[in-house]
Amino acid sequence: GTSIVTVRELRTWFELRQWGFLRVGSVRAVDGVSFELFRGEAVAFVGESGCGKSSLARTLLGLHRPSGGSVVFEGQDMASLDGAALKRYRARVGYVQQDPYGALPPFMNVRRLLAEPLIVHGVTDRNERERRIRTALEEVRLAPDEVLHKYPHMLSGGQQQRVVIARALILAPHLIIADEPVSMLDASVRVEILSLLRQIQRERELTLAFITHDLATVRHFAERLFVMYAGRIVEQAAVDELLDCPKHPYTQALLAAIADPEAGNATRQRAIPPGEPPSLVKPPPGCRFHPRCPRAIAGHCDVDEPPMLEPRPDHGAACWLHE
Ligand code: SF4
Ligand code: MG
Repeated sequence: GTSIVTVRELRTWFELRQWGFLRVGSVRAVDGVSFELFRGEAVAFVGESGCGKSSLARTLLGLHRPSGGSVVFEGQDMASLDGAALKRYRARVGYVQQDPYGALPPFMNVRRLLAEPLIVHGVTDRNERERRIRTALEEVRLAPDEVLHKYPHMLSGGQQQRVVIARALILAPHLIIADEPVSMLDASVRVEILSLLRQIQRERELTLAFITHDLATVRHFAERLFVMYAGRIVEQAAVDELLDCPKHPYTQALLAAIADPEAGNATRQRAIPPGEPPSLVKPPPGCRFHPRCPRAIAGHCDVDEPPMLEPRPDHGAACWLHE
């Protein structure tokens, strides 16, 4: 396929200060992440909260400056973009965030919500804007005449998220990043919204990157998976390959937690994988998973950081067991 974004050794660190000025450390939210995304594919970045996946999303959106490494989007290095070029870049990347109500200014009706990005990006003709707004609403299966005059609080959560998706689509992006797009919606509309995103991705042949903690649903909505742990990608493969043949002990533990029908939700959260995600300020040396790993090799895993190895073709796992 055609590459759309190439990420190499990306680091997004945030300075940690005490009393507002004393620099006491860095939060290594994204800490040496490499991957490539291709035109027209749907991928998912999976991990527990605090693993750096939202910081990765926000870096790709141009909302955080990388502290190191590179992001090359359609042949252009993000670091080289100045104001106007960064604005053009942002039009190429659509964002669907977790909380649709928070994403929609409450004092704007749907017409204005959708007109705004068009105005910001120089679509000055009112009729052209109206045409594009109606097309975008139809694409997310909302009847324009029913919703154009409504304000966010007059819409259901599912309708709000459809408006957010329409707004993400309206500038014809090449990449859509959806960060936990359904976790705040009612269970009854979750599959509907995920299916809609996937359908639009196929029809438009755009690249869709889901950010999620939910390994159970990704099989149906993504073709490739990246499992993140403590600011790094620890496993990557096609979705069926990865879920049927997990090679990293962390992924194995996550999948065991889903597969255990006896354990209640709370028990699963507590029991598997045992322990807490590590601090991103002082990550454990060696393999970051070693304090929780049932298969850790003493004197090796706690000392040496495992590189991405390839236990099976096109299946990467950063784990010494596959040396
Ligand atoms: Fe476990 Fe060692 Fe593999 Fe890390 S490298 S996941 S500690 S076996
Ligand atoms: Mg998050």
